[in-house]
Amino acid sequence: MTEKAVIVGAGMVGLAAAYRLARDGLDVTVVDTALSGSGASTRNAGWIVPVMSTPVPAPGMLGKALRWMARRDSPLHIRPSLRPDHVRFMASMLRHCNSRDYQHGIAALVALNERTVSLFDGYQQDGVRFEYHRTGHLLVFRTREAMHAHRADFAPMERIGHTAAALSGDEVRDLEPALGTCVRAGLRCAQERHVDPATLVTGLEQRCRDLGVRFLHGRHVTAIRSQGSLTTSVLAGDEEIGGDLFVLAAGVHSGALSGLAGFPLPIQPGKGYGFDDTSGSVQLRHSVYLGEAKVAITPLSGRLRFAGTMEFGNSDSTVAPHRLRGIIRSASEYLPDFPPAPQQHPWAGLRPMTPDGLPVIGPLPGKDNVFVASGHGMLGVTLAPMTAEILSAQIKGEKHDSDIANTARPFSPQRFARRGTGNQRFAPRGTGKRPAGL
Ligand SMILES: Cc1cc2nc3c(=O)[nH]c(=O)nc-3n(C[C@H](O)[C@H](O)[C@H](O)COP(=O)(O)OP(=O)(O)OC[C@H]3O[C@@H](n4cnc5c(N)ncnc54)[C@H](O)[C@@H]3O)c2cc1C
Repeated sequence: MTEKAVIVGAGMVGLAAAYRLARDGLDVTVVDTALSGSGASTRNAGWIVPVMSTPVPAPGMLGKALRWMARRDSPLHIRPSLRPDHVRFMASMLRHCNSRDYQHGIAALVALNERTVSLFDGYQQDGVRFEYHRTGHLLVFRTREAMHAHRADFAPMERIGHTAAALSGDEVRDLEPALGTCVRAGLRCAQERHVDPATLVTGLEQRCRDLGVRFLHGRHVTAIRSQGSLTTSVLAGDEEIGGDLFVLAAGVHSGALSGLAGFPLPIQPGKGYGFDDTSGSVQLRHSVYLGEAKVAITPLSGRLRFAGTMEFGNSDSTVAPHRLRGIIRSASEYLPDFPPAPQQHPWAGLRPMTPDGLPVIGPLPGKDNVFVASGHGMLGVTLAPMTAEILSAQIKGEKHDSDIANTARPFSPQRFARRGTGNQRFAPRGTGKRPAGL
């Protein structure tokens, strides 16, 4: 009999999983609170950037955030809060801001990104319709020192064919004449891609429907029913949706949702902001990262998208004008023709963050048939297709696929059951017995 999979969350990660499991021949239902895409997946910078396989907790990162606390428009902000989950999360992240964990995180993310570009190409070849650009990525800097520091971080990505070629300021301007003379160095990453994320979400959902996936939009999952270690259904209002296996891909809500299944994961929001400029005052071909300002710029059909800011401790979706002003001010410094005027239709998005900066992919401790796919932070679009490959292998129980098992290991939810990871009070319940998964 065909196995029935229920996926909670129709963001990029849930959709990539639905697509992959439907291709595997499973009977897939996707449940989402929103009537149409509302999570971080529809509005973000849209970069497909394996070259940026670096975890957010990095040596010196929290020190930088503390120095920036007084600046209202800083690109990184930790909101002071005594909420226990926030304090526990930040303390755990602080413990991961060291060189050993950072290098471990890079190695894990590089392996996870090895097939990313070919998986996106595969979407296109399979008829997923989305706006897809292959023009490459540019990182630009005011100093050569900043460029070299980034280049050193990117060295491990060369193994998977994602190189970063050093450029002078003039060479950068030969590629993108709109950049001003404050830019003194750059890195060109020719293998990187970018997408219009809203078209990708719509295109993937449409392709999933073609493959027979059922979508239940406007249903908010409030309970997970289990018998011992086996989950039998999720409840959305009065509706009970039964299945043989369940995937929790609810973005920033995945922590609360996994709690309903007995194992609350430490997933907290990292808030970002953005807007689209349709004035045509600046033209770019590459996606561009303004290195010191930490602003992302993406050329999309008929507009330039600007995005940035990482704010911890803030989970609402309101747009803070001062954060937006920080992005606009930085953009006009690097792009002399960009008007430093208020922009229309700004937005905010919540990235699902983990304290170690790595996604959470795999079986939920204490449950035999519940899988998690979340916590992708700044790289959820980039990493979604490979996340789905891992889930597919784990669900099929391909024990012999040692490559994928090794790639998946650092992302296991099980790591939050160990002492000292910031989640030790959340010990798993149930037997932990697994079907023939990895
Ligand atoms: C400013 C900004 C720029 C970014 N730029 C990039 C980029 O360039 N490249 C990149 O790779 N990543 C980028 N990201 C990160 C990326 O957007 C996220 O990592 C990714 O979208 C997360 O996808 P998701 O599917 O896990 O979550 P989401 O997109 O948030 O989807 C989760 C879904 O779950 C649903 N849901 C939640 N709770 C429930 C419930 N109880 N019941 C039913 N449904 C529920 C929600 O309605 C939502 O639709 C950026 C993020 C931001 C904020």
